[in-house]
Amino acid sequence: MKIETLAIQSTQMPDANAGAVVAPIYLSTTFERAADGSYTHGFIYSRNDNPNRQLLEKSIALLENGQVGLAFASGMAATTALFQALKSGDHVLTPNDAYYATNVLLENIFAHWGLQATKVDMTSLSAIAEAIRPETKLIWLETPSNPQLRLSDIQAIAALAKQHGIYCAVDNTWATPIWQKPLDLGADIVMHSTTKYFGGHSDILGGMLVLKEDNALAQRLRDIQKLTGAVPSPFEAWLATRGIRTLAVRVKAQTANAQALAEYLTAHPAIESVHYPGLTSHPQFAIAQKQMTGAGAMLSVQIKGDAIQAMAVTQKLKLFTTATSLGGVESLIEHRKSVEGTQSPTPDNLLRVSVGLENIDDLIADWAQALGSL
Ligand SMILES: *Cc1c(COP(=O)(O)O)cnc(C)c1O
Repeated sequence: MKIETLAIQSTQMPDANAGAVVAPIYLSTTFERAADGSYTHGFIYSRNDNPNRQLLEKSIALLENGQVGLAFASGMAATTALFQALKSGDHVLTPNDAYYATNVLLENIFAHWGLQATKVDMTSLSAIAEAIRPETKLIWLETPSNPQLRLSDIQAIAALAKQHGIYCAVDNTWATPIWQKPLDLGADIVMHSTTKYFGGHSDILGGMLVLKEDNALAQRLRDIQKLTGAVPSPFEAWLATRGIRTLAVRVKAQTANAQALAEYLTAHPAIESVHYPGLTSHPQFAIAQKQMTGAGAMLSVQIKGDAIQAMAVTQKLKLFTTATSLGGVESLIEHRKSVEGTQSPTPDNLLRVSVGLENIDDLIADWAQALGSL
């Protein structure tokens, strides 16, 4: 079955009670036991499991070609669970260009628990190989990366990880399984912020871990999910499955808009550079062609100018709301450096764009007027 069909099929829940075509929302926190003490329907208590969460987990696991899906209350809760599965003294490699909070989480929280971490240029296989230590247990990839859209060769890095007995996890939030399937390329774990494209409407928080195999790590993560309890509510799980039903059309249309906007901006004299894996000028265009079936709907630009001038552009744009986050139907723009702080390696003149579902002619016209008056 193709992914578009799978997205619809996997989010349906047969309803013996009323024949409802759309899954009901199960708000009940607790489920009745049978006379013999068993749980007739397999549910006990909603922190442990819930029908809406189970549907979401099964759906995303199928879309990513994994055996196990575990839903969390946010992307960061999902990331946290994976780090919690490691031990004090273990070592993690993360990208030097990545979702900013992932590295801050390691530095501010997990360092106190003895988890060691090194930031690496994940575009370089030799830099990764050099950074591996005997205690290294996890290579965390984010490709395309936030906010510079750098790519990591998942197949090559997963093979290197395997050689050393190290887990390879990929934050696949930006590409989505519509364009990239890390588990098929050899990764062990996929992480998603379902807040973004799965939800798709900027109205829920959620996270997901998908494991290629139902192994000891999966069992450990199930324990962490149930015992620490950072789980999504039934309503948020329901909204995420609702989002999945239109994921393919949204991501494809938003990607077509992003490609056209990236091409327009590349040719614009007020723009210094455009970071988008769908451009032949992208330094890793060959990797994009190899591991992605589409380039995604995120891009970033460096304008000819400084931070103040970059921020002025965000104010001149009328159709791009100046706000953080991404993956919704509306276009958003953000000056990342001022969000991440002075420590951040992000260039001062960089603007990150989440391209929405508006008409592309309107989006390009908006940039034309905003840059024209630069
Ligand atoms: C948003 C995001 C996260 C964090 O997810 P939350 O749902 O905000 O906790 C992690 N990685 C990437 C790439 C993201 O875009």
